[in-house]
Amino acid sequence: MKTEHQRTALITGANRGIGKEIARQLAQRGFAVFICARDIMKGREAAEELCQAGLEATFIQLDVTDPVSIRTACGTFSQKADHLDVLINNAGILEDHGGNILELNPEMLDRALKANVRGPIMVIQDFLQHLQKSKTGGRIINVSSGVSSLARMTTYAPAYSISKTALNAVTKQFAGALKEHNITVNSVDPGWVRTDMGGPSANRPVEKGAETIVWLAADAPQSETGKFWHDKQEVAW
Ligand code: NDP
Repeated sequence: MKTEHQRTALITGANRGIGKEIARQLAQRGFAVFICARDIMKGREAAEELCQAGLEATFIQLDVTDPVSIRTACGTFSQKADHLDVLINNAGILEDHGGNILELNPEMLDRALKANVRGPIMVIQDFLQHLQKSKTGGRIINVSSGVSSLARMTTYAPAYSISKTALNAVTKQFAGALKEHNITVNSVDPGWVRTDMGGPSANRPVEKGAETIVWLAADAPQSETGKFWHDKQEVAW
């Protein structure tokens, strides 16, 4: 049966970390959530966990670096739901923690750009057809990072930081292009969050890391678009 009347949200990289928590919080808010993951076992397990808690979650395999996988996921989605209200580009990689721009490995830069920039662009392009069917106005949220900010940039993790700055440019580009379609596009800095990526010393639990993303998905006014957010406040790019 297709999801027709419920609000729907699709989250990439939702098998662990912040993405999994976003899915949990949105499902608790009554969304039908689509948990995307590149690994079938991990993705099924994450969706099953929510279903066992009485929430509505469906797994769809999606590797953001693979255009065929994105296209296939888009086709699978159309068999399960007739519209998409919220798309969250959460999947991301950080490989050059401790790296230095003076010795930046170009292949590492390619991988960061492929997963963190090219991936979200292709996911938005393919899923746009479903967002355009949202009755409430579609919402796209790109999970960026504080290290993307040009105003506050340091020398930390150059490939990752550059890729997240580029992701912010993706947000601005799509926000402008989709304004007349009533689809909002925003970037979020979730803060330093205790996940595999953030590590055990991070000062935020996943619940807090997901908070602003869930707010933008469910509660923020539909007029808010083309902005960079942290703790529900607009911040400088
Ligand atoms: P994790 O490393 O814990 O999780 C990353 C998720 O992305 C995993 O589900 C992983 O899947 C998935 N992923 C990676 N590559 C791909 C791919 N090619 N296709 C599909 N999925 C993929 O990270 P976090 O939860 O901490 O991070 C989530 C987002 O938040 C990222 O975009 C990150 O940059 C951002 N962020 C995180 C911060 C933090 O402190 N944790 C701070 C600022 C931003 P798999 O399990 O298969 O590897």
